[in-house]
Amino acid sequence: MTNANYDIVLLDLDHTLFDFDASEQLAFADIAAWANIDDPASAFATYKQLNSALWKRVESGDLLATDVRLLRSTQLISALSLTVDPVELTDRFLSGLGQYGDLYPGASAVLDALASTTLLGMVTNGVSEVQRAKIKRLHLDQWFHAVSISGELNVAKPNTAIFDHALAQFDDVDRSRVLMIGDSLGSDIAGAIQSGIDACWYNPVAADTANSARYVIDDLDQIPGLI
Ligand SMILES: [Mg+2]
Repeated sequence: MTNANYDIVLLDLDHTLFDFDASEQLAFADIAAWANIDDPASAFATYKQLNSALWKRVESGDLLATDVRLLRSTQLISALSLTVDPVELTDRFLSGLGQYGDLYPGASAVLDALASTTLLGMVTNGVSEVQRAKIKRLHLDQWFHAVSISGELNVAKPNTAIFDHALAQFDDVDRSRVLMIGDSLGSDIAGAIQSGIDACWYNPVAADTANSARYVIDDLDQIPGLI
């Protein structure tokens, strides 16, 4: 039986299926306690600013995803005048990012529904160890036929090479029957459009932003209706 619209659905992980904010807060609380940070809330805000600037540089191709982890620690240590070792801080934080956090409510039901009619691929910008720890702990292999992680490929969304890597793991790909779903206009949507596949922007906060996605949804429950 042929599906109505799509044979393959590619999905982003963080902030689309996975509650990255909760994971990040819990992981940061761990290192704040370990590093004796006086004001964890203020330190977390500083971390968020540094991290966001680094990932913008990854998206623009100015920095490798694999370089984010240590640079982030070095910059944080400098900004907060900490005396901890940057490599140990990095290891502890990455361990926490893999260890904490869950799929958003309803995400597993949506994945069940999608996997019953299409093949699924994960296309994620992140650190290999962290993303692999999540995949194992949350049993994501049960739904995903293919996984492409920027940290393993030295290429990140929106670069089309990571979408090519994902699609190379499927047979007889017709790009007109592939849909990419993600929360980032700059990486998920731009990369999908440049790769010649349809894009669905997951925009749960209903930000009124002009975009080129074929679909915009604010709830994961809307996905099966697009397929
Ligand atoms: Mg995302």
